[in-house]
Formats: sequence, structure tokens, C-alpha cells
Amino acid sequence: MASGRRVRTVEFSRDRVNVFFHILTACNLSCRHCYINPKEHGTQTLPIETIRTWMDLFSRRKSSANIIFLGGEPTLHPDLAFAVRHARRTGYQSVTIDTNGFLFHDILDRITPDDVDAISFSLDGAQAQTNDALRGEGSFAAVMRGIRQSVSRGFGTSVIFTASTANIQELSKMPALLHTLGVHRFFIQVVGLRGNSASGKVTAQAGAATWLDCVPKVAAEAADLGLTVTYPKVYLDPNEPFECAGRVADNVFIFPNGRVYRCPLCEDYPLHSLEIVDNRLQERPGITERELFELDIPEGCVMNRLIQPGNIRYGADGKPLHRIACCMLKREIVA
Ligand code: SF4
Ligand code: SF4
Repeated sequence: MASGRRVRTVEFSRDRVNVFFHILTACNLSCRHCYINPKEHGTQTLPIETIRTWMDLFSRRKSSANIIFLGGEPTLHPDLAFAVRHARRTGYQSVTIDTNGFLFHDILDRITPDDVDAISFSLDGAQAQTNDALRGEGSFAAVMRGIRQSVSRGFGTSVIFTASTANIQELSKMPALLHTLGVHRFFIQVVGLRGNSASGKVTAQAGAATWLDCVPKVAAEAADLGLTVTYPKVYLDPNEPFECAGRVADNVFIFPNGRVYRCPLCEDYPLHSLEIVDNRLQERPGITERELFELDIPEGCVMNRLIQPGNIRYGADGKPLHRIACCMLKREIVA
């Protein structure tokens, strides 16, 4: 490993709230692995007044808060620029837009690099054939154009690659491509078996051997090229402690119908522990994700055990070979 590179596990923290804000669920694409589920998440586009009010509910809770604007495709929202500036004004420590690259409403003309910390582009292949098979015809060309515009205008620019059996073979080609494009950060994600992927028919998680052989190595190669890389741990080492972010961190995933989840793996179910009603945040009574967070099982993450047990392998003694980490546990390599 090259000297000077810092590799760390990103610790969960209660002192910082990470707000993942889905301001609408509409999208111009129909990705095969899309996790948006309109039946559970609604189809509304939130008016800007509501976006501001809901943002304030969370910026006031902690001295340090990060916000990520999501959709659907958030740049389809005509008032995204106002929302971004409101986040800055009201003290969010970092502001990110996650986009599929189409950059509607000329968003880059309406904000400046000082308004956002990063624009994060979803790109699921190093070539059009692979990416477009997952994300739709023409999406590779659009995201390339968007990344180039973002970099050339001085925006912090990152790329999110959602790895599955459909594209993990191409992950090793990503570092060189991103370096050439001038991208600053590289996020590798594991496909979550939610939304379209829940059937397991369209995309599936790569197995443990493939993941462990491939992902840390590619992450190190990207860091060698000067990128900061983040990837999920997924499989815990034998003596590594298991922690559920629902117990020890403060992440919220807000949907336009007012549901607020603490765990993204619960998002296909009405298990949200919080909800926004009449612009007030309240705890939901009864059985919610909260009760699941308290369970200790040998397999690690309880929700993973319930909805995607296929990624757990057991030894001859009946014990899991790897406990599955919280989906929010990340490794980061800073070049
Ligand atoms: S994954 Fe994102 S870009 Fe793709 S269809 Fe879903 S919301 Fe749209
Ligand atoms: S993914 Fe698993 S470990 Fe993480 S918050 Fe959800 S239930 Fe807890």
C-alpha cells in the first residue's frame, strides 16, 4: 500500500446528523436496480416551502448536519437551487446533490461551487454498453457530459458506482476513467435488494469472494490516482465488532410522503420510526424499525437477514462465515 494514504473505517457518530432528503420521486430514467418504491414513498414533488421547513427540522437538531438531495432525480425539481442555498444559509455543514447526470433546469447555471460541496453522479459502468443496460439508453453519454461540465466549472465532483453481478466485472476500469475525467471522489455502493432489485431477478449482489477480491483492490488503485474512495464494508472480519447505525448514529432518510426512516434497508416496508405530520417530526408508535435495531443475531444486520439472506454463508458448524455489516458502515481511503 502506498505510503501517505490514509485508510479508515468511517465511525458512526451521534453528534452529526446525515439527512438524505428525497425531495421528489419522479425520474426521467427507469434503472433496473432503482430502489424508489412509489407505493411506499409516494409520488409527490414537495413544494419549496415544505422542503425548507423540513430541512429546518433537522438542521436545528445537531450542531453538525450534512444534507444530500436525492430523488427520483432531484434536478427535475424546479426549485432545487433555492433548496441548496437554504441549506447553506441555515448551517448545514455539507451539501450534496446526487444526480443521474441529466442536470435538468440548468442547475449548474443556477448554483455556484460555493453553494455545494459535491455533485455526485451515478455511473454504473466504464462503457456505455454496461451502464446503459442498467440505467437506460443514452444515460452514459448524458452522465459523461454532466461530469465534464461539473468539473470544468469547478464543482466538487464525485461518482457513485452501484456494484452488482451485472457490472462488478467492470469496476476495475473505473479508476482510470474517473482520473481522466478529473473526478475528486469515488463512492462504490453495493446494490440494495430494494425496489426493482427486490425480486433478485434483475440485479443481484456479488458474492463474498468476488466482493472481497475486487472492491478493496480497485479502491486502492483509485486512491493511487489521487481519488478519495469510499466503499461499504459488507462482510465483517472475524473479530470486527458489529454495530447497527440505527442504535449508534443519526441518519435520516426522508421521503415526500413524510416517512422518515433510520435504516435504508427498511424502505420497502412501512417500518419507518419517524414521520413528519403537519410539518412536525414525530416518533411512530408500535412496531417499527426501532425494535429491529435492538436484536442481536450471529449474522450481524437483522434487516439483511430478513430481506437478503442469500449473502450469508454458513460453515459446517452452522455459524456464519462472515457477519454482515450495517449497510452504512464504510471504509474510506484518502489519497
Ligand atoms: S436509480 Fe435514480 S436515476 Fe435510476 S430510475 Fe431510480 S431514481 Fe432514477
Ligand atoms: S442496515 Fe442493518 S445494521 Fe444498519 S441500521 Fe439497518 S438494521 Fe441496523
